[in-house]
Amino acid sequence: MNTLQIDTEQLLQTFLDMVRIDSPSGEEDALRDYLIDRVASKGLAHHTDAGGNLIVDIPAQGCSHSQILVFSGHMDVVPPCHQIQPIIEELDGDRMITSDNTTVLGADDKAGLAPILEAVFFAIDHQLPMPQLRLIFTTREEVFLAGAKELSAESLKADFAITLDHTGKQGVIINQAPAYIEFTIECRGKSVHAGIMPEQGVNAIVFASRVISQLRLGRIDENTTSNIGFLTGGKATNIVPDLTVIKGELRGHDPLTLERELAHIEKVLADVTATLPGTGYKFHYQTRFDAYRVDETHAGVQHVVSAALKTGLEPQFIRTNGGSDNNIFVKRGLPGVVLSAGYMEPHSLKERVRLSEMVLCCQFLMNILETFAHEPF
Ligand SMILES: [Zn+2]
Repeated sequence: MNTLQIDTEQLLQTFLDMVRIDSPSGEEDALRDYLIDRVASKGLAHHTDAGGNLIVDIPAQGCSHSQILVFSGHMDVVPPCHQIQPIIEELDGDRMITSDNTTVLGADDKAGLAPILEAVFFAIDHQLPMPQLRLIFTTREEVFLAGAKELSAESLKADFAITLDHTGKQGVIINQAPAYIEFTIECRGKSVHAGIMPEQGVNAIVFASRVISQLRLGRIDENTTSNIGFLTGGKATNIVPDLTVIKGELRGHDPLTLERELAHIEKVLADVTATLPGTGYKFHYQTRFDAYRVDETHAGVQHVVSAALKTGLEPQFIRTNGGSDNNIFVKRGLPGVVLSAGYMEPHSLKERVRLSEMVLCCQFLMNILETFAHEPF
């Protein structure tokens, strides 16, 4: 157990500084400049890659092996996120930080970035044991992990990654996440005047509705979910529509189930088309990221569990149904887990975080550094 206490006010200030810097996806430059200033002030080696990601390399201290641990978080924030005004409320001897309800707070993921900075700086200043460490701050995570996809093989040449980017109490350990497939179905018919010659038209909205009525949606099984998120079509009430576009997603932990669901969509399209003469379709899909599972027995995962216990947390393994940069790390050969950044109701105007959760996060990270310094992973 680390008895040294981090400076809570400094942690809060770092968080507020970052929240006040606009950083929508693809426009992370100002936040990256802030982070560069902070790491440069500690004399740490850093570079920005072609994807705009910031990579910081920190030498080991009091460590007997040469393995590399990664701490990661993303710099971008979902909209609405311009000119965020954080509000601090006293609450049961704690402080709750919210937005003014006109924007998100950006605690996703700045409540992860601030504890990373403060915990690591604290460890450096107090010469605490830590393995060779790499900080990876990514761009465009909220746009299908676009920044992480541009990380170089060199940047990902490390032994274990810890990404701070999840809601919930400190102690949750995410070691499984699904693949994500986005799909588009174009349902084609034939346009004619709806009043004069409806017999000669083929209604693409009717076609699409029959298709949708046969798709499997929602929670399909314990490994798989599916959703239709967009339906567009039609030009005027007096025109039989010739095109309707359906857009949706499939998420799944099991590649075989996902293949089965894609085949089911194809079959529904073929079957419905066969019963409606004059219809046609195009079906495209794209895997935005792949599923992963890092075994609970992996030494790195076990170190995280030990550090959680040392911090007084209850380690809890969770299989998420959302994606994160860790999907990219694991796919590219860097095993890792995602931990909570303590934020609540991310991607909403009610997004908020307790200062006590960020403090706990710092303590957890310091215990992680100590544990990973003492044992290889
Ligand atoms: Zn996030």
